[in-house]
Amino acid sequence: LAPVGVLALQGDYREHADVLRSFGADVITVRRPSELAQVSGLVIPGGESSVIDKLSRMFGLADPLTEAIAAGLPVYGTCAGLIMLADTVLDGIEGQQSLGGLDIAVRRNAFGSQKESFEVDIDIPALGAPAVHAVFIRAPVVEQVGERASILGALDDGRVIAVEQGNLLGTSFHPEMTDDYRFHRRFYDRVLSVGFHS
Ligand code: GLN
Repeated sequence: LAPVGVLALQGDYREHADVLRSFGADVITVRRPSELAQVSGLVIPGGESSVIDKLSRMFGLADPLTEAIAAGLPVYGTCAGLIMLADTVLDGIEGQQSLGGLDIAVRRNAFGSQKESFEVDIDIPALGAPAVHAVFIRAPVVEQVGERASILGALDDGRVIAVEQGNLLGTSFHPEMTDDYRFHRRFYDRVLSVGFHS
């Protein structure tokens, strides 16, 4: 199997690489199109989506990323990574673009300054018991879910924070900051079953 990539332009990509390595995966960091062309799957980490957006365009990665997503590359986006995967971004900085792929609208920094970070246990039926301990840091919320995307999890108030669509998976929160790697496992199982290579 080709290596699994972690987009390493900005953000907490090292933590994601460590999680994937704990599964025995061969992991490479991706900063160039030539690296992207080698991978069987990709994690887009948390960080700052407007920066990841700018850098991905500067490094000539944005178009190849969009094409790979459309071609079926399995991708897992957390937090800023979820924003990058959303077809529509609300409250982006001026000119902010996303890669798209997920049929959703995401609002950046949706919890406002009072609740910049918080942690909560969330039941994710697709993962079974126990509930996932979710860490939110200036997190986005999925405000609209289109027909092609499905909801994997929501807060008690109904706000959607985990979605899936085909080979794309996205969470508003940061499983790599806990020791519960079931979302990464779900992504990696998809990588193994798809066997993507460009
Ligand atoms: N607020 C950040 C953004 O807009 C996301 C924060 C995070 O990834 N933890 O990209």
